[in-house]
Amino acid sequence: MKKTMESADTPVLMNQKTHAVFEGGEHGKSLAELCRELLSDQKKTWPACRQGYEFLRSMVVRDISCSEFSVRVQHNSGRMKSTLADVRKEAVNDRPCFLCLDHLPEKQKGIRYRNEYLILCNPMPVFPFHFTVSCLDHHPQTVRGKIDTLLQLAADFGSDWTVLYNGPRCGASAPDHLHFQVVPAGHMPVEKDIHGKDRFSLAARLDGVLLHSAKNLGREIVALEADNTIALTRVFDDFLKVLAEALLLDKEPMINVAAFCAGHNLRLLVFPRRKHRPEAFFRKGDDRVTVSPAVIEMGGVLVTPFQRDFERLNEEVVKDIYREVSLEGEIVQKVIDRLV
Ligand SMILES: [Zn+2]
Repeated sequence: MKKTMESADTPVLMNQKTHAVFEGGEHGKSLAELCRELLSDQKKTWPACRQGYEFLRSMVVRDISCSEFSVRVQHNSGRMKSTLADVRKEAVNDRPCFLCLDHLPEKQKGIRYRNEYLILCNPMPVFPFHFTVSCLDHHPQTVRGKIDTLLQLAADFGSDWTVLYNGPRCGASAPDHLHFQVVPAGHMPVEKDIHGKDRFSLAARLDGVLLHSAKNLGREIVALEADNTIALTRVFDDFLKVLAEALLLDKEPMINVAAFCAGHNLRLLVFPRRKHRPEAFFRKGDDRVTVSPAVIEMGGVLVTPFQRDFERLNEEVVKDIYREVSLEGEIVQKVIDRLV
């Protein structure tokens, strides 16, 4: 199957798919403004997108307090496809890449971002605004050497937005095509929970980058924060490298990342993982729990397409899922100790 966008028709296709261009925003509209306009336009011109957002309005949520932290369960049958997505290599190789320009739905358009990415509306949203930032090249999903893009996006979108990354083996529904997501800030409970008393402790200060680790949040979270993007990028890359060494991996360790603009600072929340889906996901029949943890779930919004799971998820099940898919605290601590 052809999965390259290098063809004679690429410039024509690119123009057809471009709703607007963002190259820095110095002389024009902000990136957030362009994306809001894109979504408003796509709801009018692309029926599947309109339906996806209409569907979201009827979706129900329920908060679960897990003593030290909280989660929000979202019953969203529109997410059936992504929750159940078969991301095994053979399945991915057998399907056309849905993020490549020549396979996008006919009515789908995007914001061309700094000439390297196309920002698209996610037609199966989890939040009232949900964008996919897709690389213009068919390039495997990775955060290695790409964290600066995540930080640039966070800075360009500003403090009302969050930029998300799913590793290819822990949540990305297109592990074969580099992409990020952008959602409005303030929707994931972890954003509040990290500010609670005694929730985070300063583990190190490296090159002006503050490194905190989570306490009592049910899963491992490492926060990196700085006003200097270069130093932040370097410390993140070091963290990833040392984590890979600690796990004896020559490929990218399983992580999810959320990037925020916090005043003058940029902040990364890193969720180190030991597995993608919990054992309960693979059970048969009624015992199956259909939650497939990716970055949004690690941030505290558990999306399930089934009413049954929506009703029966409770503190105990949530804590079990987090414990099972999150990397062991001792390994994370070992990585931090090696960095210092
Ligand atoms: Zn692709």
